[in-house]
Amino acid sequence: MHHFDYIDGEMHAENVPIQQIADEIGTPFYVYSTATLVRHYQVFAGALTALGLDSEVFYAIKANSNLSVIATLAAEGAGADIVSEGEMRRAMAAGVPASRIVYSGVGKSEAELTFALSENVHQINVESDSELETLSRLASSMGKTARIAIRVNPDVDAKTHAKISTGKKENKFGIDIDRAEEIYARAAALPGIEPVSVAVHIGSQLTELEPYRATFVRVAELVRRLRELGHDIRHLDLGGGLGIPYTAAQSNSPPPAPDDYARVVADTLGDIGCKLAFEPGRMIVGNAGMLIAKTLIVKQGEARRFLVLDAAMNDLIRPALYEGHHEIKPVKEPNPKTPVQAHDVVGPVCETGDTFATERALPLINEGELVAFGSAGAYGAVMASTYNSRPLIPEVLVSDDQFSVVRPRQTYEMLLGMDRIADWLPADQENAD
Ligand SMILES: *Cc1c(COP(=O)(O)O)cnc(C)c1O
Repeated sequence: MHHFDYIDGEMHAENVPIQQIADEIGTPFYVYSTATLVRHYQVFAGALTALGLDSEVFYAIKANSNLSVIATLAAEGAGADIVSEGEMRRAMAAGVPASRIVYSGVGKSEAELTFALSENVHQINVESDSELETLSRLASSMGKTARIAIRVNPDVDAKTHAKISTGKKENKFGIDIDRAEEIYARAAALPGIEPVSVAVHIGSQLTELEPYRATFVRVAELVRRLRELGHDIRHLDLGGGLGIPYTAAQSNSPPPAPDDYARVVADTLGDIGCKLAFEPGRMIVGNAGMLIAKTLIVKQGEARRFLVLDAAMNDLIRPALYEGHHEIKPVKEPNPKTPVQAHDVVGPVCETGDTFATERALPLINEGELVAFGSAGAYGAVMASTYNSRPLIPEVLVSDDQFSVVRPRQTYEMLLGMDRIADWLPADQENAD
């Protein structure tokens, strides 16, 4: 469900014509829909409360950490799941108090942990013995007590792309669930540590519920064992990972609905007597964003038509990194009589991997035409780089008939201004020519 549709032959984000944004700020750019963000948040949170689950939602801001996106969700009641000090600063700058922030991640530096402790972060999810010892030392020296979860690795196959699977023994994440008793005993004995929760997160873009069920059953067994050993576990953190439809075909048999996911939670953990935390990212923002690009060049080969866009892998890396599929549509609604052809849609970056789609059936698209990539709200702008010295592209947030540029296009001054000429080189750049 999203709010990007053709109205009078023109693609709109809610009630704003995409062409109007392009005319004002140029291409390429990301555009996000407030109504979609809010709807997805409410559907997810509502599915949990409808089943009477005592739950709280921490939006995983790594999926899309634009301050306006975080602020939109915070206004709906979302906390934040973060994986770095930078993300913690973003969450707080967007109005999420530290008391509503969960700090996840497999490798946090001492500086980052110190920052989180000094701000009294709600919870730190610990992923290794070493991190537990470090955190105890830091918290004690600061006179603080860190509320922690141990992130356990349940050894469940999430049946998703290998690069976004995190809950198997061979993945780097979490502590082997078989070692959980030992590590909780250690945590309970350490100064400055209060173990309050168990955390799991088995992967991203999950399209089946069985891996969740298997994980939650293991977590329930673990909680019972930990309680028998005297640990007062009152919280669980069940991670994120719910998939979204990326293709039109998937829209007909979509990934599990939040209602069905909530039912699995209720079946497995409904009576465990814990407050349940959730960390959805992609399912909140994925379909709430599009990437808009212009067709720079059309190359008509014998069998194929190449569209060279002004957006590239540095702007949206999912196709290159995860073989991610994004629907591509012309911004001007095609006449149903327009012939459909196989197009290879590529960017201008000097890498063969800079390919968004191969042999994609699209209505004939011409030079100068705008195209929209669907489902680009998650792991899009946040993964962008300036490879090939291409400035970071703008992000736009739409609400009904208004739009706001929530991150302007990076200027060349900003891009070059990050570099310094080393002392031993001619200092005056004009002399360098
Ligand atoms: C990435 C991540 C999430 C969010 O994953 P989605 O697939 O975007 O829902 C949640 N929790 C943790 C610990 C993560 O690393």
